Amino acid sequence: MIQEAIARYLLKQKQFSLTPKAVLFDMDGVLYDSMRFHSRSWYETATHHNLISTPEIFYLYEGRTGESTINELYQKTFHRDATDEEKKSIYEEKATLFNKYNDGKAMSGAAEVLAAVKSSGLQALVVTGSGQHSLINKLENTYPGYFKREKMVTAFDVIYGKPHPEPYLMGLKKAGIQANEAFVVENAPMGVQAAVAAGIFTIAVNTGPLADKVLLDAGADLLYPDMTSLANDWKNIIKACQENNKDI
Ligand code: CA
Repeated sequence: MIQEAIARYLLKQKQFSLTPKAVLFDMDGVLYDSMRFHSRSWYETATHHNLISTPEIFYLYEGRTGESTINELYQKTFHRDATDEEKKSIYEEKATLFNKYNDGKAMSGAAEVLAAVKSSGLQALVVTGSGQHSLINKLENTYPGYFKREKMVTAFDVIYGKPHPEPYLMGLKKAGIQANEAFVVENAPMGVQAAVAAGIFTIAVNTGPLADKVLLDAGADLLYPDMTSLANDWKNIIKACQENNKDI
């Protein structure tokens, strides 16, 4: 199954080899079990401002920058973009609620994935649409020794944000590698779209309430139900890449 996924990737992205040197990790819903708190605080903030939404819709918007999510809500409700003032105050309100609700819990199995990545000699980077200082600053405590701040891509680095390939292209640049030398680990459809558009082999982990099909339709190359399953299969993924390259 992994071999087939690699073959499909090479064909789709017009690459000759997949030789991973780094893994670009999304943060919310991958490294932190934080999406339920994002969804709750977005929904409550939106409702407070009479913006039409559901708690679930924020799992579809996940990966966008805060500004882009707020514009989307304004377009849906009022058929116009939000003003700079509205964007600023609504984002602040959402961030305040998120910090109140978020328990900072690491995603189960994520530490095991990081350990497997390290033992296979790959570097690990974070590429997130998040502008939440609370979580970005916490990474070093939760996963000591894995991530370097200067190699992180956050909401503060990007203009477009996911689903645009920009954040992942920036991640490749920070890692000093090409698209066929990386894996992306993502939980959100727009994050998967961004990674695929950047030409990277994309591993989806479905840690939220969406159907698997949504992530596969977004272009995920491999899909796991959670981070623990990915950790357990890591050696097989690396082995499949090595075998594939032997065939060339
Ligand atoms: Ca995410």
